[in-house]
Amino acid sequence: MVLLLPLWVAAQAVQVQAVGAGALDVSPALAVLEDADGSLTLPEVLAADRAGRMVPRPGASQGLSLGFTRSAFWLRLEVRNPGSAVAHQLLEVSNARISHVSFFVPDDAGRYTETRTGGDLPFATRAVAHRHLVFPLQVAPQATQVVYLRVQSTIGLIVPVQLWARPDLDEHTHTDYMLHAWYYGMATAMLVFNLMLWVALRDRIYGYYVVFVGATALMLASKAGLASQYFWPGALVWSNFSYYTAASVGAAAFCLFTRRMLDTATVLPRVHRALQVLAAVHLLAPLVYWFAITPVARFATLLFLLTVLAVTAVGAWCAFLRMRSGYYFLGAFGMLAVGSLVTTARSFGWLPTNAFTVNGFQLGSNLEMLLLAFALADRFNQMRREKHLAQRELVSAQQQLVDTLRASELELAQRVEERTRQLQVANERLEALSMVDGLTGIANRRHFDQVLHKEWTRLERAAQPLALVMLDVDWFKRYNDHFGHQAGDECLRAVAQAISGVSRASDLVARYGGEEFVIIAPGTDGPQALQMAQRACDAVRALGMPHPLAYESVVTVSCGVAVTVPGPDDSLENLLGQADDALYEAKAQGRNRVVLAEPLGG
Ligand code: GH3
Ligand code: MG
Ligand code: MG
Repeated sequence: MVLLLPLWVAAQAVQVQAVGAGALDVSPALAVLEDADGSLTLPEVLAADRAGRMVPRPGASQGLSLGFTRSAFWLRLEVRNPGSAVAHQLLEVSNARISHVSFFVPDDAGRYTETRTGGDLPFATRAVAHRHLVFPLQVAPQATQVVYLRVQSTIGLIVPVQLWARPDLDEHTHTDYMLHAWYYGMATAMLVFNLMLWVALRDRIYGYYVVFVGATALMLASKAGLASQYFWPGALVWSNFSYYTAASVGAAAFCLFTRRMLDTATVLPRVHRALQVLAAVHLLAPLVYWFAITPVARFATLLFLLTVLAVTAVGAWCAFLRMRSGYYFLGAFGMLAVGSLVTTARSFGWLPTNAFTVNGFQLGSNLEMLLLAFALADRFNQMRREKHLAQRELVSAQQQLVDTLRASELELAQRVEERTRQLQVANERLEALSMVDGLTGIANRRHFDQVLHKEWTRLERAAQPLALVMLDVDWFKRYNDHFGHQAGDECLRAVAQAISGVSRASDLVARYGGEEFVIIAPGTDGPQALQMAQRACDAVRALGMPHPLAYESVVTVSCGVAVTVPGPDDSLENLLGQADDALYEAKAQGRNRVVLAEPLGG
C-alpha cells in the first residue's frame, strides 16, 4: 500500500480539454494541503508536495467542500497535453465569493509566477474579465504542467474547479450571461412596475415587494459575481458582506410583505409581532456583518433558514384557512423551493447539468416574483371588490332607510286621517251634546238661539207667522226652599217632559235658563199659539206635583205668548221682549195662566 501510494497520487493528472469537449470537473484530481494560519509560501508548499503531504480529498465532485474555515488551502493540479500543438486552456474557479485566490503557473524556466485575485479584490485583478475567477493556462505539446491554487475566504469554502478549452468557455459564457441578463431584466421590470404601483396606490406592500425583489436580485448578483464585475468593481470588502446584507434586507422586506399580504394582524396576531421582530433583526444584521462576518455567517444562515420556514408556515396556515393569498404565497415559495432543489440536485449529480438546472434558483426566484406580483394584483382586485360590495351595501341601506321613511310617512298620514275622522265624530257628538240641556234633555239655549234665527229668516221669506211661548215655573224658589234643590231638578225634568208632550214635531221646546222654558212654533198664528200655551199650562198642572207653598198647591207654569210675521220692520229681540212682557203680565195676573202679547202698536 505504502509503495503504491505515490503511484496513485501521480495518477491524478488530467488531460487538456479538446475544443468542443466542454468543461472538465477537476476536483477529484486536486491534491490538497491545509495551511491553517495561512502563512505558507510557495517554496514551502512545493517542499511539502515533494514530501507527499498534498493528498486528494476523497469524494470531491462538483467542487471541493472545505467547510466554514479561515484556513488557507493549497491545491495542486497536473495537466498533461498529449497533443502536438500548444493547448490554450482556462481554469475556472466557479465560485465568485472566495475572498482570495492565487494561481501559480510555471514559466519556461520552471519559475512560478503568481496571479492574485478573488472576490474581495478589485475586479481589475482578474486575468480574464469573467464573473467567476478564471485563469489562462497554456500547456506545451507533449508536456505536463503542474499548477497550484491558493484559496482563502472569510466564510465557507466551496471550490468548484473546471478546465475548459478556451473557445468552449467563451461560448458557455455567452449563454450564461444571456440567461442572467434575462433574469435581471425580468427582476428590473417587476421592480420598476411595482415601484410605480407603490407611487400610484400608496400601499406600503408594493414598497416591501420592490425592496424584496431588489435585494434578492442584488444577492443573486453578489453570489454570481456579477455585482463585483458591474456594480462595485473597485470595492475590496464587498463580496460576502454584500451577499449577506442583501439577503438580510430581502428577508426583512419579505417578513413585512408577508405580514401585510396575509393580514397576520387579524389572522395570527402573535406571529404578526414575531415577524416584525424577525424583520428588525434582519435589518440590524448588516451592522454585525460589517464587523464580524466570519463568526456570525453560520448563525446568519440559520436565521435565513428560520425565516424561510416561518414565512412558509404562515403561508401554509393561511392556505389551510382557505385564504386566496395563502395559496399564492405557498405557490410562490414552492417555485423557489423547487428551483433550489433543482440546483442542489444538480450539484449532487442527481440531475444533468444544463442551463435550467444550473440556474434553477434564479428561475425559481423569477417565478416566485411573478406569482407574488399576481398575488398583489389579486389582493388589489379583492380590495376593489370589497369596496364595491361595501358601497352597494351602503346604497341599499340608504334605500332601505328611504323606504322605511316613506312607509312611516304613509302610516303617519293614514293615522292622521283616521284621527281626523275620529275627531270629526267626537266634534259632532260634542256639538250634539252642546245642543242639549244637560238637566232636562231638551234643547238648550244655544240650540234655541240658532233655531230662532233660522226660523226667523225662513219665515221672513215665506211671509208666515212665527209664535214664541215663554214659560216660567211659578213659585219655584219656594219649591226649592221647601223640597231642596235635588227635588227642584226633578221637578224641572218633569215640567220639561210635560211641555214637550204638547208641542208639535215642527216646534222646538228649549230650556231658556233656570226654571224658564220656551217654545218656538213656526207657521203658528196667535190663536193657535194661545191654545198650545194653554195645553202646556194644563199639562204641567195635570202633573199634580205637590207644592204646598203655591196657590194651587201643585206646580204650575205661567206663559207669555208673542206672535209676529218676521219682516224688516220687526226684530227677533222685539219678539222676545214681547213674550217676556206677556209672561210678566201672566205672573202679575195671578200665575198659572196664558197671556198673549199686545201686537206692535196694538
Ligand atoms: P215666580 O212665580 O215669580 O216666578 O217666583 P219664583 O220663585 O219662581 O221666582 P224666581 O224666578 O225669582 O225664582 C227662580 C228660582 O228658580 C231661583 C232658583 O233657586 C230656582 N232655580 C233656577 N234654576 C234652577 C235649577 O236648575 N234647579 C233648581 N232646583 N232650581 C233652580
Ligand atoms: Mg223665573
Ligand atoms: Mg218662577
